Amino acid sequence: MIELGEERLDIKKAAKEFAENEIPKYSKECDEKEEFPWKLWKDSCKQGFVGVFIDEAYGGQGYGYLENALIWEEFHKVDPGCAFAALGTTIGAETLLVNGNEEQKENFLPPLVKGKAIMAIMITEPQAGSDVAGIKTKAEKSGNDWVINGTKTFSTNGSIADYAIVLCRTEESGERHRRFSTFIVDLKEDGVKRRKLSGKLGMRASDTAEISFDNVHVPKENLMGIQGRGFYHIMDFFNRSRTWVAAQAVGATQGALDFAINYSRERVAFGNKIASFQAIQFKIAEMATKLEAARCLTYKASYMLDRGKIDPVFSAMAKWYSAKVAVEVVDEALQIHGGIGYFSDHPISRFYRDVKAIEIYEGTKEIEKWLIGRKILGVR
Ligand SMILES: Cc1cc2nc3c(=O)[nH]c(=O)nc-3n(C[C@H](O)[C@H](O)[C@H](O)COP(=O)(O)OP(=O)(O)OC[C@H]3O[C@@H](n4cnc5c(N)ncnc54)[C@H](O)[C@@H]3O)c2cc1C
Repeated sequence: MIELGEERLDIKKAAKEFAENEIPKYSKECDEKEEFPWKLWKDSCKQGFVGVFIDEAYGGQGYGYLENALIWEEFHKVDPGCAFAALGTTIGAETLLVNGNEEQKENFLPPLVKGKAIMAIMITEPQAGSDVAGIKTKAEKSGNDWVINGTKTFSTNGSIADYAIVLCRTEESGERHRRFSTFIVDLKEDGVKRRKLSGKLGMRASDTAEISFDNVHVPKENLMGIQGRGFYHIMDFFNRSRTWVAAQAVGATQGALDFAINYSRERVAFGNKIASFQAIQFKIAEMATKLEAARCLTYKASYMLDRGKIDPVFSAMAKWYSAKVAVEVVDEALQIHGGIGYFSDHPISRFYRDVKAIEIYEGTKEIEKWLIGRKILGVR
């Protein structure tokens, strides 16, 4: 197990205190109304919890993905929907930090940590999600600009973001994965249409939208990274972002386990606290053990990233396994609550809806297992 050390424990403690005091003010209402928690986001930025992995030169804390994971864990322990909404506002900054040029980083990163701007990353399209190279949105050169046409969907922050990293097809021919480029697009440009997608099962405080680009002009300076290598920039993004997605799962799992432990100690059946029944003890033992395994994988994947070891297998293992554990543990936690857990008054029912998304975004569980298996076996 990784020794967290005093500084990281302090960060975790500060995140815990903030999350426990602030998030509950918004959880129920933002879930019910599918509303983004604007004040929580601003306050989270003010307290320095948003985008801590961003270098100090661009306004961030200059911490690593491990410190970031600790904060995501503590926030998601309290409420996954509001936590994702507030912390997920830097989504895409992971790749901008690595592949953006100096000017792009200076322009687009500081507003994210100051609570002055929200970002999105737009990869998925109606006809292609897992098959990233199946996207059709095109960017074509026109004078000093690129002109974008196409439709993106399921974009986190899509209807509220100020700018987005958009993956587009730029090359007509060549190797299948070398036909794409990434652009930083100002979402207030003419030709951008956004439609908030309502009716999500969970993570309802987090905004999700469909965005269409109709002859949207982007200056050539906003090409991010290398032309024709956009697919690889996105894969690199997933290798990094999957650590915070894994931390979302670990946090939600801990939150659900805590609810289950507390309820087991209070609830009486057949004249005894249900905690005294071996069947409940076995459940708690399994839940806690799975959580510890998921946490170890998540911390290790984050720690490796911080040491410059970009390992797609580890990030995918952490994200796949932690999400699986979250879905299983939240299910058991609700079961321990009996009937009361099935009603929306109890947060466990919200957790139950929220965690399913973690098995879908940033790569589905099937895609992650496919990646892990292929890499281990050395097959394409
Ligand atoms: C809440 C939420 C937020 C999201 N945020 C973003 C975002 O910010 N930006 C963005 O670009 N996208 C986002 N997405 C989209 C998400 O990344 C995609 O939904 C996901 O990658 C799956 O793509 P798809 O929905 O097209 O499903 P498909 O790719 O069509 O897959 C359908 C099913 O087939 C399985 N499948 C596909 N290919 C294979 C294979 N080769 N082997 C085995 N099984 C396979 C999948 O695992 C899945 O179960 C978000 C989605 C949700 C739900």
